[in-house]
Amino acid sequence: MGHYSREKSIDKIASYSEALPSGESLRQPGEFGKYVFNEAAIKRYLPHRAAEKLLATIRDRQPLDPTIADDVANGMKEWAIGLGATHFTHWFQPLNGGTAEKHDAFLDVNGTGEALQTFSGKNLIKGEPDASSFPSGGLRCTFEARGYTAWDPTSPAFVKRHANGATLCIPTIFCSYTGEVLDKKTPLLRSISVLERSVKRLMKLFGLDEQPVSVTLGPEQEYFLVDREFYLHRPDLVQTGRTLFGSPPPRHQQLEDHYFGTIRPGILAFMTDLDRELWRLGIPAKTRHNEVAPAQFEIAPIFEELNLAVDHNMLTMDVLQRVALRHGMVCLLHEKPFAGVNGSGKHNNWSIAYGKRNLLEPGDEPRQNVIFLTVLAAIIRAVDLHADILRASTVSAGNKHRLGANEAPPAIISVFLGEQLTEILEKIGKEPADAPTDAHAQEMILLGGKTLPPLPKDATDRNRTSPFAFTGNKFEFRACGSSQSCAGFNMTMNTIAAESIDYIAEKLERLAAADSAAFHEGLAKILAEIVETHKRVIFNGNNYAPEWVDEARRRGLPVLQKSMQALRALVTDESLELFERYGVFTRAELLSRFEVFLEEYHRKVKIEGGIALEIAQNMILPVVTEEYAKAVGAYRAANEAGLTEGTEGTRQLAADYGTLVDELNQKCREMKSALNGVHEEIIDAMARLREVVDRAEQVVNDELWPLPKYREMLFLYN
Ligand code: ADP
Ligand code: MG
Repeated sequence: MGHYSREKSIDKIASYSEALPSGESLRQPGEFGKYVFNEAAIKRYLPHRAAEKLLATIRDRQPLDPTIADDVANGMKEWAIGLGATHFTHWFQPLNGGTAEKHDAFLDVNGTGEALQTFSGKNLIKGEPDASSFPSGGLRCTFEARGYTAWDPTSPAFVKRHANGATLCIPTIFCSYTGEVLDKKTPLLRSISVLERSVKRLMKLFGLDEQPVSVTLGPEQEYFLVDREFYLHRPDLVQTGRTLFGSPPPRHQQLEDHYFGTIRPGILAFMTDLDRELWRLGIPAKTRHNEVAPAQFEIAPIFEELNLAVDHNMLTMDVLQRVALRHGMVCLLHEKPFAGVNGSGKHNNWSIAYGKRNLLEPGDEPRQNVIFLTVLAAIIRAVDLHADILRASTVSAGNKHRLGANEAPPAIISVFLGEQLTEILEKIGKEPADAPTDAHAQEMILLGGKTLPPLPKDATDRNRTSPFAFTGNKFEFRACGSSQSCAGFNMTMNTIAAESIDYIAEKLERLAAADSAAFHEGLAKILAEIVETHKRVIFNGNNYAPEWVDEARRRGLPVLQKSMQALRALVTDESLELFERYGVFTRAELLSRFEVFLEEYHRKVKIEGGIALEIAQNMILPVVTEEYAKAVGAYRAANEAGLTEGTEGTRQLAADYGTLVDELNQKCREMKSALNGVHEEIIDAMARLREVVDRAEQVVNDELWPLPKYREMLFLYN
């Protein structure tokens, strides 16, 4: 194979011209949910009784009636075949953080050799994939290798189309033969039930009729796009999802012109296809824009019920990558694909609804506001008590490059409320505010016989540096990495919120017999106590400021900068006890999860070290050596020609290249030996190797440099 010419890739980009949209592609959505076995499809393809029962399971979480399984399977099959499906798969979310599918054809052959299209209730409800090749963190050794996938009817089946066919996908949970969870969906579902129970308990105390509870999530997804040819010529991107070398160009993101900038035609064509694909899958993609770093973008959907939102985000990550390829690009979901510019995160907008009432929305009437303040206090308490587990939910080999790097929240978990709301919380149960005299009196919150000023309904103050910000009617958790599943954070959030809501409910139950004034007096005391004890976790200042680290330490907040240290919080006695008490994880399940994350982290670092060494040894060193030889040759020629001019310059050049060859050689050796050591040694050796390689990039003849450069990958696209 000849030398890779970066020029060829650049020429291809240069020749891009925007294709004129056809009438077809301009036609509007209309197709929303076309590939989803939604209510309309259920009613059309199932017998009436089966449809009603299935819809009750979906809407009201009634247990599934197993006698309808065959009818449902049959209707689903007919529907899917109509959309071109030849296969079905149980679609699940193993612990490696991605999604898994194993396809089976709707095929049986009868005695006379004829093909039949079959799909039974049994096929729908249960699968038995071999679990032994999925990470299980030891559960597999103790228990059986067989695994189960079981249908989750609350997340609708969908059809995934490809160029010449389609597959029916059935969202499922995944567990071991003996019932230990091996996936991310099961604990999420468990945590949702737990929070539902606690919320109902609390709402009853406020005299509300029973309503369905739904936890809601709107995940904002950041990503990068790079030209596919560039990508394919970066072994580091192909193998690890991020660049391990690359000298940041003079212009990167300092002009601040990319964020919300005009979207380029090739990118917009991609986004349009992307939205259309997502809409067909029933994913309510809503917002699209350029992000801060060059070649970085964001997509955000309308929020949905949590379990569905998580499935949809997993699917969105999948569709992003597929559609990018169609447009000659590769979508990078890694948290830090490029050094020197911002990395990518995933903002989790989280809230709880009780019937139609958003519990995190300050409202017009006093009761809503009292409920709002109670839930708010519960969340503050939860985050303060369990900041370490929240932090643990953000740990990954990729996310470590982003957290705390002045572009993403620090490794310290705190809550942003804004000055106004903080002040109001601090007033609860304390000084009486002025007696309401104006027309807005009815908007005042009455707590403990004292009135508080009306709640700010529009939180206009924003803080982009906080890891956990109240944004007017929801909390936004910003520390998750772009490639991470949302399940980890949300499962944790639900459980700790449930625990704190229960804490308050238990105290309130003792007051339940009291009259309204005494009840509110008692509630005010409980909330005041919570605010007093846990207000240290509230921080409205600049989370990027170096002083915050010291301040946080002074306040006694956990400052867990190192990933491994942070991950350990998952398996402290408190954490094991909490998750077990709430039935979200058994001890064995949580310990196994810890093992899986630990192992994954080490493996990823080791792969990075390995590929860094390969690139340095067989792509960079030869080029630098070639330059050295040329410089030596030039120096020799100058001498032989008896020239004085150029003799010193070429001597210097040869000497500089000689030094580079030596340094590079030395760093490669260090890298090699670090690969036998622990992950910190590998990370350090990679940084030292990178420093020399990036220096070499700046001096080596541009035509010889084998790797696409940052200035090309980040700035040259359609
Ligand atoms: P930002 O300024 O942070 O981009 P947006 O208004 O665009 O905020 O909202 C971000 C996300 O929050 C969207 O996905 C939106 O649907 C979601 N969101 C809005 N309200 C709620 C809610 N009650 N629960 C969960 N997510 C919500
Ligand atoms: Mg946001």
